[in-house]
Amino acid sequence: PMNRTQSELWFKRAQSVILGGVNSPSRSYKSVGGGTPIVMAKGEGSKFYDVDGNVYIDYLAAYGPSVLGHAHPHITQAIERAARDGILYGTPATSEVEFAEQLRAAIPDLERIRFVNSGTEAVMTTIRVARAYTGRTKIVKFAGCYHGHSDAMLVAAGSGPSSMGVPDSAGVTPSTAGEIITVPFNDIPALQEALSIHGDSVAAVLVEPIVGNFGMVAPESDTYLRQVIDLAHNHGALCVFDEVITAFRFHYGSAAQLYNVHPDLYAMGKIIGGGLPIGAYGGRKDIMEQVAPLGPAYQAGTMAGNPLSMRTGIACLEVLRQPGTYEGMDRKAKRLVAAIEAAAKDNGVAITVNRIGGAFTVYFGSHPVRNYDDAMATDSATFGKFFHLLADRGIIIAPSKYEAWFVSAVHTDEDIDETCRVVADVFKALAK
Ligand code: PMP
Repeated sequence: PMNRTQSELWFKRAQSVILGGVNSPSRSYKSVGGGTPIVMAKGEGSKFYDVDGNVYIDYLAAYGPSVLGHAHPHITQAIERAARDGILYGTPATSEVEFAEQLRAAIPDLERIRFVNSGTEAVMTTIRVARAYTGRTKIVKFAGCYHGHSDAMLVAAGSGPSSMGVPDSAGVTPSTAGEIITVPFNDIPALQEALSIHGDSVAAVLVEPIVGNFGMVAPESDTYLRQVIDLAHNHGALCVFDEVITAFRFHYGSAAQLYNVHPDLYAMGKIIGGGLPIGAYGGRKDIMEQVAPLGPAYQAGTMAGNPLSMRTGIACLEVLRQPGTYEGMDRKAKRLVAAIEAAAKDNGVAITVNRIGGAFTVYFGSHPVRNYDDAMATDSATFGKFFHLLADRGIIIAPSKYEAWFVSAVHTDEDIDETCRVVADVFKALAK
């Protein structure tokens, strides 16, 4: 068995200074049956090294951003260079202009962009801008989708399309939750019904075009997203795509492009920062002109557009533009999923895998997963065992059945071979 003595000691220290020992709740092992989170000391390429010296292959990818693995030389060099030129100006700078130009070249819908520091801020601000533009208050979102931890986004479904949301977190007021309407993903009639009841007061329909927060779930038809956008527009509302996970994940651009659709606003984060803190939002010029200093909707940020994040984001895009990057991630993930499915079958364990390119979720259950209720109905206890069996054999994934495995640009064929071997062993253990 792996020695985790140092992880235990560090986590004990962590708990006496950092609330819960973690700076984001999803890092705890609460939803995988407990245990001490592994404390990492170093990341290099596709590998993690923990404080006890154990080595792991990383498919967590820091919940998405680490598409180039750890300490990628191009990223490290960009950070070093940026540091020498000063990391924070509080003035306009060339790096933010160049980066915004590159993002718009990749995603032409981004007629105007603003950089912020997290996905939470990006989504929060698109909501404010949509409300400013439409003069309306309500937001329609989809059940189980996470859009950051702003008050309005910590709202769970009410029961039925005519009911308002209820706070999903202590400290969120009922009046805030009451502005949020929640409908199931992949269910056009439910969205139609909600909009027929509330349409006149809806500022925006907010959607992850490919869901990443109850596992990876794609729209069930090629026309679904077009219908979502059209329905929003027919009711005088905007459509906002939360592409915090999806932008630059599946190809060099947005998920909207994969379905040939044009939302009014986008929220982004994660990958575009190359691993540094970042968020961005943008879209139609006439809508973005609501934002100060041009318009009445306020948004600001001391750290926004800092040269360090900008230069690192530019470096990340440079690597992602190299031919074959996305094809490689797709091919490796496909091979891994085939091995997982074969191992599950050999051992009589029922699973369902949703894969989109280099990202996939292994659900324990035999039913298809198209929405949050489907994902909830999968087996949490078996997932918890699966997580620990993998970790004990040197494979790191997110400690939650609602997350994805992310294959990065730097996973090697040997990493995949090794993971396939481990997976075969893990399913054997699971079947016992
Ligand atoms: N939107 C989506 C779709 C996300 O997955 C996340 C984070 N997991 C966020 C927004 C919030 O981003 P951040 O954690 O950078 O605030």
